Amino acid sequence: MREADVTVIGGGPGGYVCAIRAAQLGLKTIVVESDKLGGECVNYGCIPSKSLITIAKLYDRVKEAQKFGLVAPRLNVDFSQMQKWKSEVVDKLVGGIEFLLKGNNATILKGEAELVSKGKVRVTIGDSTEEIETKNVVIATGTKPVQLPGLELDGKIVIGSKEALELTDAPGRLLVVGGGAIGLEFASMFQKLGSEVTIVEIMEQLMPGSDPEVVRLVQRKLEARGVKVYLQSKVLSVSRTDHVATVAVESPTGGFLLDVDKVLVSVGRKPRTEKMNLEALGVLTGNGGYISTNNKMQTNVEGIYAVGDVRGPPLLAHKASKEGIVAAECIAGKPSAADWKVIPETVFCDPEVASVGLTEARATQAGYNVKRSRFQFAALGRALSTGEAEGFVKVISKAEDGLVLGVQIVGPEASNLISEVALAIEMGATVEDIALTIHPHPTLPEAIMEASETASGKPIHQLKT
Ligand code: FAD
Repeated sequence: MREADVTVIGGGPGGYVCAIRAAQLGLKTIVVESDKLGGECVNYGCIPSKSLITIAKLYDRVKEAQKFGLVAPRLNVDFSQMQKWKSEVVDKLVGGIEFLLKGNNATILKGEAELVSKGKVRVTIGDSTEEIETKNVVIATGTKPVQLPGLELDGKIVIGSKEALELTDAPGRLLVVGGGAIGLEFASMFQKLGSEVTIVEIMEQLMPGSDPEVVRLVQRKLEARGVKVYLQSKVLSVSRTDHVATVAVESPTGGFLLDVDKVLVSVGRKPRTEKMNLEALGVLTGNGGYISTNNKMQTNVEGIYAVGDVRGPPLLAHKASKEGIVAAECIAGKPSAADWKVIPETVFCDPEVASVGLTEARATQAGYNVKRSRFQFAALGRALSTGEAEGFVKVISKAEDGLVLGVQIVGPEASNLISEVALAIEMGATVEDIALTIHPHPTLPEAIMEASETASGKPIHQLKT
């Protein structure tokens, strides 16, 4: 029987970060992982997808770069080298996590954990089991893909994101079911790598819930590149042979059949809690079975905490990690809580999308007297000089005092740009604060400053409206 102050179940961004902080705070910490340290994000999500997206984007840019005088006549994609590089990136990060856990004196157990009772975790490691008597448990078991009836993943023709990241060639014809963040990232990537891509989305816009102006630009660009987008549409059935699928789609303009080589299903995820005995332990769950907690990550059962995706949307690695830190600090008796104002979100499609705080619609619904201002990348020197000048920065502020409520960015490096605004909102900054901050020239963040100058009524590089 092992003993611990904290047993963290799951070694993803929520769990491993929690374990590192708990161990740093002097708690005897065990982290149990049934697959690979780093979880979904490092092994099957954020990192491998962005590695491949980067290569696809580079390939596309070099092909387009003839107009800049860069000619590469025999450019092609070596898929096996691309996969090798991706795996090297992942392995490096997984190794780094193991190094940090061990370096901070956290114990790693590679096995499947079951939460037997409040203070007891049973771990199955191969043919043997070990028990841990633990003062606290942090459930950080993440999520798994939702399977739709008739569209069950077979791993060959009908695949999920995990299989899509392992493909050894770009599918000739790819159907992406679900136009959310993950679906769009894969659609953009495979289109660049040569696939003929169709997206079927059941809602009336791609990236449901996002700013419609942003989404319109993304859709326009996808369509300009030949991607077919069907909104308010759904897949009725899929008939599969060894190599292809015939998919029946219902759309507002009528039904049709689509022959494709792969169907990538990306329609959502659900919490992975089968081994946590939540019902027997009396742990409360909410919508969709996600574990309910307070802002200290405590469930209703003393000594049981939950962090990350298993607590529910937004399903984001950076949110999971921050929650992991909060749980560890609360267990150590520190005055910690999830009191952040905003959680930035990014989508690595083309152009990239990033958002933080309220959209215009949400700010209006919340009763604010909203001021909106935009700045187009087409008017920004740095964007033009990189050849990526599509898109804009949109700043949503309070009309009375200029308090920044939210920012949406669609365009080059949106994912990197958004952090400045997240900090601004956390610090309670106004548009004037951002406008008065000197931004280096020529850089992309100037677009945020320019949009803020416009919001303050003092635009320089666009006309006053
Ligand atoms: P997970 O990362 O899912 O980790 C849970 C871990 O628990 C897993 O390793 C699992 O093996 C382990 N586990 C489960 N049950 C047990 C058990 N009984 N015993 C032991 N171990 C167990 N997020 C972003 O922020 N940015 C992105 O760009 C991004 N891109 C993504 C792309 C894709 C294709 C996907 C699928 C996801 C992406 N995400 C992204 C989401 C991100 O991966 C998750 O938000 C993040 O991994 C959640 O971390 P977590 O620790 O809560 O759970």
